[in-house]
Amino acid sequence: MKYVGAHISASGGVENAPLNAHAIGAKAFAFFTKNQRQWFAAAYTEQNIDLFRSRCLEFGFSPDHILPHSSYLINLGNPGEEEVQKSRAAFNDEMKRCGQLGLNRLNFHPGSHLNRISVDDCLDRIAESINLALERTGGVTAVIENTAGQGTNLGHTFEQIAQIIDKVEDKSRVGVCLDTAHTLAAGYEIRTREGFEDTFRKFDGIIGFRYLKGMHINDSKKELATRVDRHDSLGKGVMNMDLFTLIMNDPRFDDLPLILETPDETLWAEEIRMLYALQQSSH
Ligand SMILES: [Zn+2]
Ligand SMILES: [Zn+2]
Repeated sequence: MKYVGAHISASGGVENAPLNAHAIGAKAFAFFTKNQRQWFAAAYTEQNIDLFRSRCLEFGFSPDHILPHSSYLINLGNPGEEEVQKSRAAFNDEMKRCGQLGLNRLNFHPGSHLNRISVDDCLDRIAESINLALERTGGVTAVIENTAGQGTNLGHTFEQIAQIIDKVEDKSRVGVCLDTAHTLAAGYEIRTREGFEDTFRKFDGIIGFRYLKGMHINDSKKELATRVDRHDSLGKGVMNMDLFTLIMNDPRFDDLPLILETPDETLWAEEIRMLYALQQSSH
């Protein structure tokens, strides 16, 4: 079974996330655990937590289909000592917030070397940041999102992600989220059946499907291998609907949060319906 939803707003309180997801007919959702452009945020209150949990139950959202996204400010591979400490503290706080909400995964962008350290050193630093977070928190999996490889962002190749996972001590609490727009922009042709099969064969060989904890379902304004991260609404960018048909009919993507991060939120309800309509009747 497929669980499709969108990255919805949690403004006004985290308890609004399940409400907003339900309103667009989502079966899964993502949200920022706090304001994604600020370092600090007030702790969740007892009421935030109780309402979030009770609304998830009421609307039938399981923790396995909820994929919170961490702040864009965090760089777990930051070459600077003070800066990486700040990022690690913020990441640990977000991992704790997920635990408080009864959730089991937190999606993040691996990090950037800022042209100050080598790729290998930066990947090591990211793995060390994950190890520290997993030591200090429990029950929540750190989910590495593949990137478009814009600027000095790492995690745009399956090899880099595998290199991070390799150095994570508790492999039961590290995972991967693949973003379709990032995957294409990073240089993986996923729009044809052949390219799709080849990309996911590579993914399985280099990383392994057992690590897949979610997908971001986006069209892209930017072409193959441009390494520029610009999402588009489904059917409006350079993808074609074949990719989404392939995903919606492939059991390897069952039981995972499949999250739209498309730019026009007024289309989300329609995009969710459209994705389910791509499923062939045997499913
Ligand atoms: Zn992301
Ligand atoms: Zn994404």
